[in-house]
Amino acid sequence: MVFKQVEKMAIRKLLGLVVVMGFLSLHLNAQNEMSINQQLSAKQQSIVQIAAHTAQGELQALKPALNKGLDVGLNINEIKEVLVHLYAYCGFPRSIRGLQTLMEVLDERKSKGIKDKTGADASTINQEADKYERGKKVLGELTKTPQNKPLTGYSAFAPAIDTFLKEHLFADIFERDVLTYAERELVTISVLSAIGGAEPMLKSHLAICLNVGLTPSQLNEFAGIIQPIIGEKEAKDAQVVLNEVLKTVPVFPKGEKIISNNFSGTVWLKMMGASDTTLHTSFGNVTFEPKARTNWHSHPGGQILFITEGQGYYQAKGQPARLLCKGDVVEIPRNVVHWHGAAPDSEFSHIAVSLNIDDGGAIWSEPVTEEEYNKATK
Ligand code: MN
Repeated sequence: MVFKQVEKMAIRKLLGLVVVMGFLSLHLNAQNEMSINQQLSAKQQSIVQIAAHTAQGELQALKPALNKGLDVGLNINEIKEVLVHLYAYCGFPRSIRGLQTLMEVLDERKSKGIKDKTGADASTINQEADKYERGKKVLGELTKTPQNKPLTGYSAFAPAIDTFLKEHLFADIFERDVLTYAERELVTISVLSAIGGAEPMLKSHLAICLNVGLTPSQLNEFAGIIQPIIGEKEAKDAQVVLNEVLKTVPVFPKGEKIISNNFSGTVWLKMMGASDTTLHTSFGNVTFEPKARTNWHSHPGGQILFITEGQGYYQAKGQPARLLCKGDVVEIPRNVVHWHGAAPDSEFSHIAVSLNIDDGGAIWSEPVTEEEYNKATK
């Protein structure tokens, strides 16, 4: 009898350990990603400064920005590419004046004995596919929206500009490798902010920035960098557009789809927080598509849910379900069997904090049936 008890405890501890280790590996990935993406790198900051000064035509201010860019590790070809890319947004004259200023700066540095790295040339582009189709494909990747609808608005009004945009900007220019999409987008939003009066384009490109891996805090940092460079009105207008774009971004990232039989429907998880066990908690952001939900389960150490987006439900077994909205908090006592998930017509996100995880991970049971779900949510 005593032996059996000990054996049971050992098995439970082992199961708990496996679950905790699973969480820990997710923690580590999350941590790595965070440390990479938290702030704009020195090179990215320089790209913003160089692009904004060039778009302004402020060549005296551009010189120190170019020197700084080279000092923090941008190579000559990368800076050339920044100055070439931006001609699509502020024209050949500004671009060429920028390139001439770079030539001067490089001569000055050479005469001082500074050896700047040239860097790789742009690779040859595969020209086999139709250029217009290639441009459409790149634009589709940037916007995460397939470009298969008939032309509307200005594109229908003046199809030539649509052809030039897709063939030249999104194929000829964006397909060049020297800069990443994220770097090209930093150039683009810097120029669009500096020239002013291009708010619809700035809005689209700020959204593209988020698609190509830049974070809301990095875009706020960008606004802080251009603010003293561009005009007061332009800086204010850019900030308004940025605020508008960021309003649509969920507070916490969705993370990756969970592949598990413990959930019904599509669910995403982003583990958060430090990768240590001294707090005896693990926590992450969980997002459910409409109707998606957990199976019935319980937490030996208890759980707290903080609702951050949309509408959903929490139900303890034998109790009526509770409707949950943004801002609600659910405290789930130890060992109470329950489920949580999205309402039938709303995506739903909560931060789930699992407490006292040394006492074991979630104990999973059968799915919430359609009948149980419909009854709870009607
Ligand atoms: Mn739970």
